[in-house]
Amino acid sequence: MGNIVFLSVRRFRPQLKRSKPYHVVMVGLDKSGKTSILYRSKLREHINCVPTTAFNVETVRPSKGLKFKIWDVGGRDQNRPLWKAYVRQTDAIIFVVDCANETRIEEAREELFNLVNSAQINGAPILVFANKQDKPNAVGPVEMINKLSLHNLNTKHLWFVQPTSAKIGEGICEGLRTLGEMIDQWRQDMKLQKTKSRKHRHSLGTSRTNSANNIL
Ligand code: GDP
Ligand code: MG
Repeated sequence: MGNIVFLSVRRFRPQLKRSKPYHVVMVGLDKSGKTSILYRSKLREHINCVPTTAFNVETVRPSKGLKFKIWDVGGRDQNRPLWKAYVRQTDAIIFVVDCANETRIEEAREELFNLVNSAQINGAPILVFANKQDKPNAVGPVEMINKLSLHNLNTKHLWFVQPTSAKIGEGICEGLRTLGEMIDQWRQDMKLQKTKSRKHRHSLGTSRTNSANNIL
């Protein structure tokens, strides 16, 4: 399995001090490997999972000083309308795709865009786990970018594709570490934007006062 990473255009900035865990919601079609990824990152081993009816939640530590609380939400048809509620106020979305099942990639793409376009996620970063890379017929991560039309995502989202195998245990920690950096950058960008718009409002207020003085 290649260890190539794909970043959207912006470069990451230095890490911020992280004290609390990042809250992340993991979604994707049923059987894509979400629960296997969750427990692989928690227990460092592959476990046989039963289908998730509602959700699982675990705190995982991919490296020292980095902590995630990951919500693994069921991906069956009846669960998908709930994704929107789970992702409200999340720090990021993890979207898992079964790369060995080409017939369902289009369905996965539709669900990803439905979610990103309709949920209130305020530009939260998106990590795509291109899972089941251990299977011989797995679509590779470059092809997956095109198949999921990731370049058509709203540009306010940082996104990243990480090839993984929950079975072998490859790619998951690396992906989570990159996700931590993406969240840091997103938070810094939001802070910057807030400062800018406060300054802008302040200067508008000043010029309004000035023009009012001109009228008087
Ligand atoms: P979920 O419905 O998205 O939570 O998917 P599960 O984690 O329950 O996994 C569905 C099936 O795919 C199970 O039989 C897993 O053992 C299998 N699976 C998950 N990840 C991988 C992987 O990376 N490689 C292979 N070969 N099988 C996997
Ligand atoms: Mg599951």
